[in-house]
Amino acid sequence: MKLKSLVINGFKSFADKTEINFQPGMTAIVGPNGSGKSNIIEAIRWVLGEQSAKNLRGGKMPDVIFAGSSERAALNRAEVLITFDNHDHYLNIKSDEVTVARKIYRDGNSDFLINGQQVRLKDIVNLFMDTGLGRESFSIISQGRVEAIFNSKPQERRAIIEEVAGVFKYKKEKQKAELELAETKDHLERVADIVDELK
Ligand code: ATP
Repeated sequence: MKLKSLVINGFKSFADKTEINFQPGMTAIVGPNGSGKSNIIEAIRWVLGEQSAKNLRGGKMPDVIFAGSSERAALNRAEVLITFDNHDHYLNIKSDEVTVARKIYRDGNSDFLINGQQVRLKDIVNLFMDTGLGRESFSIISQGRVEAIFNSKPQERRAIIEEVAGVFKYKKEKQKAELELAETKDHLERVADIVDELK
């Protein structure tokens, strides 16, 4: 799997539609302070399913929409599209190319798409979970995160290692199954009570 391109439109400082093609050999993005380098990384983090506005240096999610400048009015919509080369089918999806898109409107409504098909945020999170691109993975390390990892509690550090090792998804599924099992037990007890009453 390889990152092919990123399209940013109306997200943070990117008022105009901007496309970045990640050619082989491209290893860095440089630019003056405040030119939007971190906003590019945040656009990637956001389209891959980030759910915390705080992690994107905002108060609430619509804050990611271009807020206007001295020359330009604020926009009402932000959109980011990310495309991966998936010839090796590393992402669990049949197509050789995978495009994930996320849109947000000022009123807080959002759209999520995988290869042009409307999906839920959860589907995007699941697609990238345990691929090394998941929300808790090491693929994006923001300023200050290194220190935070060093200072994290053993339990938190374990969660990071589990994501990298690919077991996080199974742990989540196990938790869900355990919850369903507990609910079923409850139902069975209720049925047994009713049977007792009818005897
Ligand atoms: P540095 O090298 O200092 O870390 P940088 O290149 O990483 O800078 P960013 O932090 O990505 O720069 O961009 C900061 C700029 O983005 C600021 O000028 C800020 O005003 C602008 N910005 C952030 N959010 C929005 C928004 N919602 N609308 C318009 N501009 C925004």
